[in-house]
Amino acid sequence: MLILGLIGGIGSGKSTIAEMFCQLGAKRIDADRIGHEVLRYRDVQTAARNHWGDRIFDANGQLNRKELAQIVFDPSETGNTERSFLNFLVHPHITRKIDDQIRRFSESQCRYLILDAPLLLEHHWEQRVNYLVFVDTPRSIRLVRIQERGWTQTELDAREQAQLSIEEKRRTADWIVNNSGNLNETLDQVKKIWQNLESQNYQ
Ligand code: ATP
Repeated sequence: MLILGLIGGIGSGKSTIAEMFCQLGAKRIDADRIGHEVLRYRDVQTAARNHWGDRIFDANGQLNRKELAQIVFDPSETGNTERSFLNFLVHPHITRKIDDQIRRFSESQCRYLILDAPLLLEHHWEQRVNYLVFVDTPRSIRLVRIQERGWTQTELDAREQAQLSIEEKRRTADWIVNNSGNLNETLDQVKKIWQNLESQNYQ
């Protein structure tokens, strides 16, 4: 099985491109989704409540991710400390779930697997992939696209400063997909990578 990791700036189009690879026949691990599942674990919620108190839970007892994000992406030093604590809580669970899924896909004779994990390099999951694809989208375009899903520039800034720089991500990549144009232009580039992978005849 060949594993392709997607990296790129926030809102660059990683999920969109992961979906394109799936349409061509790949399977996908969505680390964002796994992260949300892990936040529902009882032991994680208990530790989170002990640390941050009731303020990060809504009236129905559900963890309020927006509230938590405000704490862990606070631009001050406190934000860094709180983010480290959150990572300490969830990171082992997320890594284990990613590894479980990789194993299951491998056992099911999957040939191409996409690892769509926003913090792939930051958490050193690149050790699990054969190639890295960097999704290249200028910040101005990313900002417009994520504003459409209700995020503000402040939210983008806060999350971005908690990640590796765009330059570092780009440098690490084996392929670069320019996603500043329309979806068809992006799909053409994805198909070229796919053809290259197919020519390697991975089993
Ligand atoms: P995140 O960093 O939050 O995980 P992402 O990198 O996975 O985001 P997407 O969610 O795929 O990015 O894309 C961000 C937004 O931009 C989405 O609303 C998506 O539909 C839109 N989008 C992605 N690519 C294009 C494109 N080529 N043209 C227009 N809109 C696009």
